[in-house]
Amino acid sequence: MYFQSNKVLEVKAIGKEYGKIKAVNGLSFHINKREIFALLGPNGAGKTTTVRMLMNIIKPDTGEIKYFLENSQEEFPKTELLGYLPEERGLYQDVKILKTLVFMGIVRGMDKTHAKKEAEMWLERFELSDRKNEKLNTLSKGNQQKVQLISAILHKPKFLILDEPFSGFDPINQEAVIEIMTDMKNDGTTILLSAHQMHLVEKIADRVLLMNSGASVAYGTVEELKRDVAVDEKIIIHFSDVPLLSVFENDDTVESVKQLSKNEIVIYLKNKESLSATLNKASSLYNITKVKTEDISLHEIFLKKLGVTAEQKL
Ligand code: ATP
Repeated sequence: MYFQSNKVLEVKAIGKEYGKIKAVNGLSFHINKREIFALLGPNGAGKTTTVRMLMNIIKPDTGEIKYFLENSQEEFPKTELLGYLPEERGLYQDVKILKTLVFMGIVRGMDKTHAKKEAEMWLERFELSDRKNEKLNTLSKGNQQKVQLISAILHKPKFLILDEPFSGFDPINQEAVIEIMTDMKNDGTTILLSAHQMHLVEKIADRVLLMNSGASVAYGTVEELKRDVAVDEKIIIHFSDVPLLSVFENDDTVESVKQLSKNEIVIYLKNKESLSATLNKASSLYNITKVKTEDISLHEIFLKKLGVTAEQKL
């Protein structure tokens, strides 16, 4: 039965077309309680269209979306249970920051005193306390973004949808966003985020869905995705001379080889066990000056799933 399920959301074969463009094309996935789930993909992949369908802002042409945030299946949950950071940030520009946040809290079911207390706590955490009585449009873009984020999380939603939460933030604030998501998850919030910054998502997402052209390209935990592309180890080797890629490509244990620069190559191995044999071979043929092993990144998984053309899009 639904209410015994661990899922908070189930999406079955949703589709949305705009004229001839299939913005989303038969997309299915589910989100488990208390997980951080990431929709990833290049510009135009269909992430925002998906998020808007989840937020009931637009209706899917096909397929269905079901929530299970309370004790039964819901078409769409009560607004108090949801937090939403839209891609197009839309808070009132000429209203004082604290006032806006308190208003947003009240709209989501908080009483005024509680909303004010929480808003002040978050403004303090984001080092914006001294600006609380200024209008939003007096803040820098990044600081406006912080206020937008606070307005989405103030009421401690059960399910939080963040469309491009990292955009507009510098690397330090991107890390702060990651920390906030982790804290909220630990406090019981389930989070869906959309992003194209794979290196950030990799740090926090329990599961990911890689999208391209409205459809799923890969879906699962990062570990599952790694197994899916059959790469267990990645070695970067720097030689004093120029190596021939074909020497390594013809090996059964090698998934693929790529030239990084004139003297440097990356070898993707199907299994870690063949690492020393590969290095022995490399050193018997060329003079190695530097070796480094790394985990394959989500970005590389995505490129492997799509082919090199995706590289330009990301
Ligand atoms: P980005 O990372 O650039 O925000 P995205 O993955 O969020 O991209 P969407 O905004 O969902 O992608 O767009 C998916 C496709 O649907 C694109 O080709 C886009 O041009 C098209 N599209 C989205 N909304 C509309 C609309 N209202 N009218 C026409 N086409 C649309």
